[in-house]
Amino acid sequence: MEVDKMDENDWKYHGEGNKSLVVCHVQFPRVLRLLKYPAADSENPPQTAEQAFRQIQNIVDFSSNVMSSMLGDKFIHSGEVVKLPLEFVRQLSIKIQQQRPAWRCDKVMDIYSGCALCLPNLTSPALHQATLTPPLCIEIKPKCGFLPSPKHVSKDIKAKVCRYCMHQHFKVASGKWKRRSLYCPLDLFSGNKQRMNFAVKHLIEEPQNNFKVFKGGQCVYSSKESSDPLDVNTLVHHLRPYFLQGNNRTSCHMTNKAILNEFIQVLINALLSGDGDEGTVTDGQDEGRSFCEASLFNRERVGHASQGLPENSVLHRILQTQMLDMLDIEGLFPLYRRVEQHLQDFPKERSRLQVDGPYNEAFLEKVQKCRVEDDGSVESAVAKVHQYRVAMTAKDCSIMVVLLPREEEKDDDEGLSTLRRLRDCRPSPFTSSVSILDLDPKPFDSIPRQLRLDQKIVSYYLRTSGALP
Ligand code: ATP
Ligand code: ZN
Ligand code: MG
Ligand code: MG
Repeated sequence: MEVDKMDENDWKYHGEGNKSLVVCHVQFPRVLRLLKYPAADSENPPQTAEQAFRQIQNIVDFSSNVMSSMLGDKFIHSGEVVKLPLEFVRQLSIKIQQQRPAWRCDKVMDIYSGCALCLPNLTSPALHQATLTPPLCIEIKPKCGFLPSPKHVSKDIKAKVCRYCMHQHFKVASGKWKRRSLYCPLDLFSGNKQRMNFAVKHLIEEPQNNFKVFKGGQCVYSSKESSDPLDVNTLVHHLRPYFLQGNNRTSCHMTNKAILNEFIQVLINALLSGDGDEGTVTDGQDEGRSFCEASLFNRERVGHASQGLPENSVLHRILQTQMLDMLDIEGLFPLYRRVEQHLQDFPKERSRLQVDGPYNEAFLEKVQKCRVEDDGSVESAVAKVHQYRVAMTAKDCSIMVVLLPREEEKDDDEGLSTLRRLRDCRPSPFTSSVSILDLDPKPFDSIPRQLRLDQKIVSYYLRTSGALP
């Protein structure tokens, strides 16, 4: 990318989260991810250009040196920091403003630093130019997939109902969303196909910011701020042509329900693909920490069927990384306070302890080598805090699943396809690839806010729904 020849007309609005805004190139499979900050500070950027550059470099380092080792580098694209002409950034921000959803406009795009993160466009890989049908891409923000251990929590409910399900009640009460989502992350991370199917159905029904579908790089299905429920048929309308291909021609008679089910199957298979085909039971699962009492999935339906995620599947890697949070925020907080106190007494220790990075090999070593017992030292407290922050990132990341329709089978393959039909073992109509995005480090100083939010969510849940039988 030649940064001195940047033209805002080559870029368009792609999407945004709470921390960053993303634009994509109209021709090449590239995106720029720009920082955002509160609109109230729009005249007065909260950091200098150098600090913004450092922040984005930290994101790249954290992703490439720490998260990619935890999650598996085949899933990760860390990108690179770019310096853009300020005039380009200003024009871009004016151009995209109308396309931004109103509920995100409490923040503005950073137009002062000229810094951005340049990444491959994961919703529209270069490959698709060659194929006739555009790729489908599904983005899932799965959130935390296990219950904390009862040892570390002050309220029993936290070991029974998962954080996501409790948070839903709080989000609806505070007006963030109009309706509660019935998605439960523990069902998605279960590795049990019935439970996963149930979870994905609820993601589709009430996507909020946890589920999006892109077609050829364009978002075609996501939650809008309007209060109308999303029409699942609009999704099916986009999906139908994909299930009418190849040796699957009979599907022109498929009902909407059947199409949706096929789609969910394909998606689940992509999420479960990995090196090992055996399901492995993760630490939380054998302690009964993988079932949420708020999930409407009927437990009886799975019975004692084997559960677990295939080794090296994307969900397995994410869950393992999330489980670096062994103490829960309540168990971690005293250790955070120990570090904070130490930094007050010895401010220069902040850099030796790598509290704000650099996120290099040494940081990764601290995360990986942390002993389970706490020996009372500041080093062991810092290691636990680092581990917790890595887990927080894994609880907040998104999975991108790209589904590329396979080319129709050629004539000389006809014998083979007839044979397949006879045996009724149709190959999947898609090839899939999976990536993980949004792997920013969570600041050390955000930990007290985490504790307060946790207390609010739990006490609201106990006062309202949780108190019901
Ligand atoms: P959050 O509020 O979830 O923390 P964020 O502000 O950190 O979000 P991202 O999740 O990284 O921002 O990006 C916002 C959205 O932009 C994503 O949900 C995704 O739809 C899109 N996006 C981000 N990176 C890419 C990419 N490399 N390719 C395609 N789309 C992307
Ligand atoms: Zn739940
Ligand atoms: Mg995100
Ligand atoms: Mg983020």
